Amino acid sequence: MKVQCILCDQRSDLEDDSTLAKKLRNRPIHTYMCQSCHDRIKVKTEARLASGAFQLYSYSKQDDDF
Ligand SMILES: [Zn+2]
Repeated sequence: MKVQCILCDQRSDLEDDSTLAKKLRNRPIHTYMCQSCHDRIKVKTEARLASGAFQLYSYSKQDDDF
């Protein structure tokens, strides 16, 4: 099964029996992302979560001071 990454347009050939190929076939709305884009987004998301957690921490610390 031929797939194309939605982010970088890199084409790959998935094994028809693979879990991902079945998922994409059963749910056409499910979009394919290549491994490097997947990793990049994962890193970004984790970085955002980390900074969000830090802000949350400093806000609650300010509240404690009042
Ligand atoms: Zn990609």
